[in-house]
Amino acid sequence: MCAEVVVLRLGHRKGRDPRITTHLGLVARAFGANRFILAGDEDEEMFNGLQSVAKSFGGRLITEHSDAPMKWLKEFIKTGTAIHLTMYGLPFRQVVPAISKDLPLCVVVGGSKVPRQVYEICQHNLAVGNQPHSEVAALALFLDSFIVSAPQFEDARLTIEPNARGKSVLDRDESE
Ligand code: SAM
Repeated sequence: MCAEVVVLRLGHRKGRDPRITTHLGLVARAFGANRFILAGDEDEEMFNGLQSVAKSFGGRLITEHSDAPMKWLKEFIKTGTAIHLTMYGLPFRQVVPAISKDLPLCVVVGGSKVPRQVYEICQHNLAVGNQPHSEVAALALFLDSFIVSAPQFEDARLTIEPNARGKSVLDRDESE
C-alpha cells in the first residue's frame, strides 16, 4: 500500500455540503487514506467531526484546507499519481492494476463543478460506471479496489466485533 494516500475534495460549500463531505472524509479514513484535503470553503466544524470519529475508532487522518488546489495538484504529480474520479473517465477496474502502489496517491473527487484543468493535470480520469451518482460511492468503490484490505487501527478506543445480529463494541477504557 502507498505510504501516502490523499483524498482531495474540490468545491466544498460550507452550508450545503457538510454531510456529503463528512462522508467522504469517513470513507477516506476507513479505506486507508491518511490525508484529507478540502478545497472550496473552509470548514473547521466538519474537520472536528472527522477527528472525533478518529479519536474513538483510531487511526490518524490529517485534515487540511487548500486555497490553491490546482497548484497543489501540479506539485503532487511531480512525485505521485493523481486519479480524478469522473463519470466521463475510463473504467476504473481496468486501470487500477496498473497504478503504482509505491508512489504517493491522490484521489480527486469533484463538487458541483469540476474545472477542466483537473482532467488535464491528473494522470488518470477514472469512472466508477459511466452514470452520474455520488462522490462518496465513487470514492468507496475506488479505494476498496485499490487497497489490499481495510486498515486496522491499533490505537482505537472502540473496536467493533463483527456480529451476525446485534452490536458488539469493545471499549478499551472499560476493559482496563
Ligand atoms: N457536475 C459535476 C461535473 O462538473 O462533473 C459533477 C457532479 S458529481 C455529483 C460530484 C462528483 O462525484 C464528481 O465530480 C465525481 O468525482 C463523482 N462521481 C459522480 N459519478 C461518478 C462516476 N460515475 N464515476 C466516478 N466519479 C463519479
